[in-house]
Amino acid sequence: AKAAGGARWALFDADRNRRELARYALAAAIPTALDRGEFFLDYQPLTSLRDGRVLGMEALVRWRHPQLGVLRPDSFIGLAEETGLIVRLGGWVLAEACREAASWSAGHDDPPFVSVNLAVRQLHRPGLVQEVQGVLRQTALPARRLQLEITESTMMSTVEEPVRALRVLADLGVRIAIDDFGTGYCNLAYLRELPVAELKVAGEFVTGLRAPATDPGSRTDERILASLVSLAHALDLTVTAEGVETADQADRLRAIGCDAGQGWHFGRPAPADRFLARLG
Ligand code: C2E
Ligand code: CA
Ligand code: CA
Repeated sequence: AKAAGGARWALFDADRNRRELARYALAAAIPTALDRGEFFLDYQPLTSLRDGRVLGMEALVRWRHPQLGVLRPDSFIGLAEETGLIVRLGGWVLAEACREAASWSAGHDDPPFVSVNLAVRQLHRPGLVQEVQGVLRQTALPARRLQLEITESTMMSTVEEPVRALRVLADLGVRIAIDDFGTGYCNLAYLRELPVAELKVAGEFVTGLRAPATDPGSRTDERILASLVSLAHALDLTVTAEGVETADQADRLRAIGCDAGQGWHFGRPAPADRFLARLG
């Protein structure tokens, strides 16, 4: 039995090694893929729960891989962060998102902002402020139409320098959003240090709303959400709920006072055109 166990472990290890190798090979291909234009952005609307207006659109990167098909970010972002390649990839995402967003203003009085995910590595890079300023200048996108999403865990590991960079960007008019709010080890002190515009509450609190109101778990989620909304509003922040999948969830979020929703109920990630039609 012992020998069999050992063999099984060897098998697991070989499997794991193969997976790791595949992951690294994928990451190593990122620079070439950038040169070949294999990445593209889908967008997902942040929709006002009051009047259904599209307030902003989050850019979500995809990789049209010649052999593997379209890859979702989960399969390559993690490793891009580990290897530092996220700096180049994230730079491309920022420039491309701003370039596309600049074109959304045609014929619209109040075009949506574009919301771009910022990895920890990018935040720690000394040239971040200049990079963002350069992109805004080149694309002629007004700073107030750019939102940068950073996660709570990013803020956790954050030392003084990145906070200063974010403050400079916020002074320029760039919106700062806290992504996946409520999932990280949550130290609210950064809300004092940073001019945050928006909290994006993680979908897992919204999922709970699906259950009938008598379900104790669901009532807890509803109370947590209501408290987050009053905290945010007391600090003049807007709240966007992520992962809104049903009309019922949207209704409850509206009743709680949540400002905006994002999720399959309002639209799955897709090319920007799909949602620009909604701007009227
Ligand atoms: P995220 O920032 O939390 O993005 C939202 C994710 O939830 C997206 O997955 C989206 O497709 C998915 N989603 C949206 N609505 C619903 C819903 O109603 N139900 C469910 N179950 N899921 C929903 P996606 O596009 O696969 O992105 C995954 C993660 O990859 C993102 O999570 C973000 O952390 C990261 N990511 C995506 N693009 C970038 C990027 O350009 N740079 C960086 N650094 N990270 C990115
Ligand atoms: Ca995000
Ligand atoms: Ca999120």
